Amino acid sequence: ILTGRTALVTGSTSGIGLGIAQLYAEAGARVMLNGFGKPEEIAKARAEVGAAMGVAEAPYSAADLSKPDAVKQMIAEAEATLGSLDILVNNAGIQFVAPIEEFPDAKFEAIMAINFASNWYAIKAALPGMKRRNWGRIINIASAHGLIASPEKSAYVSAKHAVVGLTKTVAIEVAQTPITCNAICPGFVRTPLAEAQLPALAKQFGVSEEVALKEHLLAHQPSKRWIEVDEVAQMALYLCGPGSGGVTGAALSIDGGWLAN
Ligand code: NAD
Repeated sequence: ILTGRTALVTGSTSGIGLGIAQLYAEAGARVMLNGFGKPEEIAKARAEVGAAMGVAEAPYSAADLSKPDAVKQMIAEAEATLGSLDILVNNAGIQFVAPIEEFPDAKFEAIMAINFASNWYAIKAALPGMKRRNWGRIINIASAHGLIASPEKSAYVSAKHAVVGLTKTVAIEVAQTPITCNAICPGFVRTPLAEAQLPALAKQFGVSEEVALKEHLLAHQPSKRWIEVDEVAQMALYLCGPGSGGVTGAALSIDGGWLAN
């Protein structure tokens, strides 16, 4: 359903971004990757997504999204390499957890820059091309924390709420064009980084990893199971598919009932 479409997925060297890039490529899109990682991890991601596109390796930008100029350059590079940029997925993100009085300023600034400001700069740079071609899809990977708070995540929760506000504003600015802008708000998603928290939690509470998952990590997720990367990717695919044009400015939850609870 994405044949002929071009896409840039930020932070797609691992986790949710890589899952979205892979599914988009399987659906026929030409996809540019971005993100950090060990050279062999980046090469593996490029080869995997490239295989789905029928090329040796998917195009890749090493842009550091904490820097506005690098974000602008990345969009220009995507348009030049892919010939256009139809779909922009703002996914790159980092986390840091501490009470606000102990939260390092540099961590706060990095989270606001990568998780929020990069979305703003990328959308600003990508919209003119989408308007010229009269089609576009902007998908911001926010979080359940774009809609609700948890303690010790002041920077992350602020940045993700800002992403939801940005999503709504852009959506109504372009509402009379065939461009949509939506946010996806996942609960806890099974990624290597998230799973890696389990052994420490189990040790901290003196329980099994299964109990640590259900009672501690997923304390607020009524389904008591991880959201899978592919489930988030399927939602991101739906937003680019036929029949999705009326969905804009939405913050779509995929959180096992967290926000309903
Ligand atoms: P991840 O750590 O696996 O992936 C993050 C990606 O962002 C990586 O590719 C990394 O290299 C890239 N990145 C980090 N800093 C960057 C920078 N300065 N410039 C460019 N790229 C950078 O994490 P993930 O769990 O897949 O998270 C992806 C997104 O989903 C994030 O925005 C995160 O906040 C959001 N999210 C994750 C969960 C979850 O439970 N995993 C839940 C809700 C929302």
